[in-house]
Amino acid sequence: MTIDYEHFKQKLETEKTLLEKELEEVGRKNPDNPADWEAVPIEKDTSQADENTVADGIEGYEENVAIVNTLETRYQNIKDALERIERGTYGICRIGAEAIETERLEANPSADTCRKHME
Ligand SMILES: [Zn+2]
Repeated sequence: MTIDYEHFKQKLETEKTLLEKELEEVGRKNPDNPADWEAVPIEKDTSQADENTVADGIEGYEENVAIVNTLETRYQNIKDALERIERGTYGICRIGAEAIETERLEANPSADTCRKHME
């Protein structure tokens, strides 16, 4: 079975761009480590904030941290998949080394296991 690398590369690049945009909304690149993203602290005007507003701000920040973590994981998976395309190992199951089903790659282009070995 041959895998259409170009097709999946395009899908992955598109998703990567979308994820970067989403990440920029809730986070920023870590200045010390550009490969890492961190949540943006909520900037608030504390001079007139009552206790409720402060609590909301903290909650909002924690939400951002959770969102950034989720997006970052997906982002990393996509980058890994693009690397596998470069190396020519894309579409091969990480566990059993068998070919990953095309439908599975269509649904999840960053998948690195076949259906049998997916978690
Ligand atoms: Zn497998």
